[in-house]
Amino acid sequence: MEIKSQVIRLPLKYRFEVASSKKDFAENTFITINTDAEIGYGEAAPSQFFGENSESIKQFFEKVKTSLGSDPFEIDAIIMRLNNIANGNYSAKAALNMALLDLIGKKKEKPIYKLFDIPTSDSLITSFTIGIDNLDVIKEKVKAAHNMPILKVKLGTENDYQIIGTIREITDKPLRVDANEGWNREEAVEKINWLETQNVEMVEQPLPADDIENMKWIRSRINLPVFADESVKTSSDMEKLTGAFDGINIKLMKCGGINEAVKMANKAQSLNLKTMLGCFIESSLSITAAAHISPLFDFIDLDGALLLASDPFEGVRIINGKLTIPNTAGLGVKQIGAI
Ligand code: MG
Repeated sequence: MEIKSQVIRLPLKYRFEVASSKKDFAENTFITINTDAEIGYGEAAPSQFFGENSESIKQFFEKVKTSLGSDPFEIDAIIMRLNNIANGNYSAKAALNMALLDLIGKKKEKPIYKLFDIPTSDSLITSFTIGIDNLDVIKEKVKAAHNMPILKVKLGTENDYQIIGTIREITDKPLRVDANEGWNREEAVEKINWLETQNVEMVEQPLPADDIENMKWIRSRINLPVFADESVKTSSDMEKLTGAFDGINIKLMKCGGINEAVKMANKAQSLNLKTMLGCFIESSLSITAAAHISPLFDFIDLDGALLLASDPFEGVRIINGKLTIPNTAGLGVKQIGAI
């Protein structure tokens, strides 16, 4: 099997700012894997936070291109080989994983959710992210998102109370909050206990990723569920989180793909952790890959493609926040723009 890859800059509708970074575009790598009869599609959305960028992805593909073999059905052995060749490189591995599953689904004439025996649901609702901005722009964004039933609000700023206050002048819909490591422990307790009075459902990553001990201190002083995002990448990071978090945010680009994400969702149940399926800024290609497994998760946060000014793929339909997973073979995506 031959991999071809191309880096594409995906412009955003609005500048995307969180407590730790800001960006006007995402630079993602799109791949195809060819067999004799079919093409499998994949996308990597690298995060500098996890040590990846377009160049590291290119180097990884260069390293592994002769190790894919010729049969996508050997996916488990291929994943093991890739993990033996190089640690990390999770978004690059996620791109390969979804392209191989796309090929398998096409050859078996089944959508990916059926390959994993995942029942569909008509109540798959994603949250929609409101990034950090000045209060006027936040107002504008919240009004523009009037059809989205749940908002995920980025905090971790000096204006956290004003941001929530501004949103609450416009809407009383449920909110989720992501502090992106932006608080200290005393501030976290004070803010989370106030957020509980503001129809907020859960709070993500109050403290820096490695500060697990202080999360336990916080958790004994609050009622709202707290989820780990930056603190967790793969299934091997999960045991340390029990007692410190109520749930985890699983992302294809952090864990290396659909197979590992499904493993994490199953393991979370046994550790009594709730699950969220999240994303980075991604096109509808990799958002669709994630959507196929979304019925396994307690919370869905797959709005990455909705934040783009233009999207080179179509696949999962998201209308008023509700996901409809494609029922065609493989990922069920169609290229509609240049890659
Ligand atoms: Mg997060």
